[in-house]
Amino acid sequence: MKKTYDALVVGAGYAGAVCARQLAEGGRKVLVLERRDHVGGNAYDRLDGTGVLIHQYGPHIFHTNSYDVFLYLTRFTRWRDYQHRVLADLPRDDSKGDTGHQTAGGRFLFPVPFNLTSLESAYGPEEGKRLGEKLIAAYGEEKKVTILELRQSEDPEIRQVADYVYEHVFVHYTMKQWGQTPEEIDPATTARVPVFLSRDDRYFQDEFQGMPLKGYTPMFQAMLDHPNITVELGTEALDRLDVSGEVLKVDGEPFAGPVVFTGQADELFGRKFGPLPYRALDFAFETLEQDWFQPVGTVNYTVDRPYTRITEFKHMTGQDLPGVTTIVKEYSKAYTGAPGETPYYAVINPENNALYAKYRAEVEKFPNLYLLGRLAEYKYYNMDKIVEKALALSAELLK
Ligand code: FAD
Ligand code: UDP
Repeated sequence: MKKTYDALVVGAGYAGAVCARQLAEGGRKVLVLERRDHVGGNAYDRLDGTGVLIHQYGPHIFHTNSYDVFLYLTRFTRWRDYQHRVLADLPRDDSKGDTGHQTAGGRFLFPVPFNLTSLESAYGPEEGKRLGEKLIAAYGEEKKVTILELRQSEDPEIRQVADYVYEHVFVHYTMKQWGQTPEEIDPATTARVPVFLSRDDRYFQDEFQGMPLKGYTPMFQAMLDHPNITVELGTEALDRLDVSGEVLKVDGEPFAGPVVFTGQADELFGRKFGPLPYRALDFAFETLEQDWFQPVGTVNYTVDRPYTRITEFKHMTGQDLPGVTTIVKEYSKAYTGAPGETPYYAVINPENNALYAKYRAEVEKFPNLYLLGRLAEYKYYNMDKIVEKALALSAELLK
C-alpha cells in the first residue's frame, strides 16, 4: 500500500465507519476498502423506484440505552422518533382455545413480545387477566421472562401458558429462522424477545430509539466524509491484504499500521480450518399500489408461511406517499458461501465458537490486526453495540 496511509479498515459498515472516523480525527490517514458498491454495511438504505426508503439488507431500527452511542451518532444525523411495534400473525386454532379477534381469513394477531395484551387476546379478557396476575405474582410487574425460563416453571398453569407461547410464537418461527428449535440454538437468541409482563407493546424498551431522519446511508456518508479518510468502494480487500505469511502485507508490502478487519474471520484466512456456519436471507421486496399493507412496521408469521416476517418501510420512515407502499418478506436459509450470498447471522453454539477460536488465534500472530464487528467477531451484535466496540477499539489504537 502506498505509504500515505497510517491505517487500513476493511468494510464500511458500523464497525469500519466508526473506526475510520475516530482514527481520522486522531490525525491518522485511513484507507477504507469496501467490496460492495456502497457504504453502510447491512444498514444501507436507498430510495426504491417509487420513492420509498427501503433497507436493502432487512429492516434496521436503531435503539440503545447508551447515551454515549446515541450522542456520537447524533453528530452525523438528526433523528425521527420511531417506536417499533410488531404483531404476530398466525392461523386461529380453535382446538387450542385461541379466543383472539379473528381477522379476515380466520387469522389471529397479537403483540410480540408476548405481553399482557397478547395474553388477553389468546385466552380471552377474563382468563387472560387472571393468568396475567398470576404471572406478575410469580415474576413481578413489568418483568421480562425468557420463554425457556418460563417453561421451567413448576406451576402447571404457568407452564401451560409457556407452552402456548412456545407453540404460537417461538418454535415455528425459530425453525424457519435457524432450522433448529429454541432449545437447540443459543439461549441468548430467544432471550432477545422475552415474555413481557406489561402493557407496553413496543418491540424495544431502550431509552433512545428512532430512525436517522434522512436514512442510514447519509449518516454513514457524513461519518466517512473527512479529509483523512479515503473510501474505495467495489474493492475486495482480500485481493490487497495478505495474512498468509509471518508479516501482514498490504498491496504486497509489509504494513505495520493498524488493520481493522470487519469481514468474515474464516474468509480472511482462506477458510483453512473449515467454513464458519452462518444463516443467509433472501429478501423479496414488493411495491403495492395502496396506502398501507399492514398496521405496524413488522408482522411476524410465527406459525405458518414460508417467510419469517413482513416489514412495511413507510411505518419506519414516516414518508407521506399516498397510493404506494413497499414491503419486504424475509426467507431464511443456510449460508453456503455461493457467489452473491451474504452471511447475516452467526450460528452461535459451542462447536462453532470453538472453530471461530481457531481463526481468532491466527489473528494473534499479527500484532497490528484487529477483528471487529458482527461478522469478524462471530457475534449477534445490534448496531449500538458495534458503535460502542468501535469507539473503544479506536480509542485504544490512538493511545
Ligand atoms: P456489516 O454491516 O456486515 O459491515 C461489514 C462490511 O464489510 C460490509 O459492508 C461488507 O461488504 C464489508 N466487507 C466484508 N468483507 C470484506 C472484504 N473482504 N473486502 C471488502 N469489504 C468487505 N441491529 C439493530 O441494532 N437493529 C436492528 O433493527 C437490526 N436489524 C437487523 C436486521 C437484519 C436482517 C440483520 C441481518 C441485522 C440487523 N441488525 C440490527 C444488526 C446490524 O445489521 C449489525 O449490528 C451491523 O450491521 C453490524 O455492523 P458491522 O460493521 O459489524 O457489519
Ligand atoms: N423469535 C421467535 N418469534 C418471534 C420473534 C423472535 O421465535 O416472533 C425468536 C427467533 O428465534 C429469533 C429470535 O427470537 O431469531 C430473535 O428475534 P429478533 O427479532 O431479535 O431477531 P432479528 O431481528 O435479529 O432477526
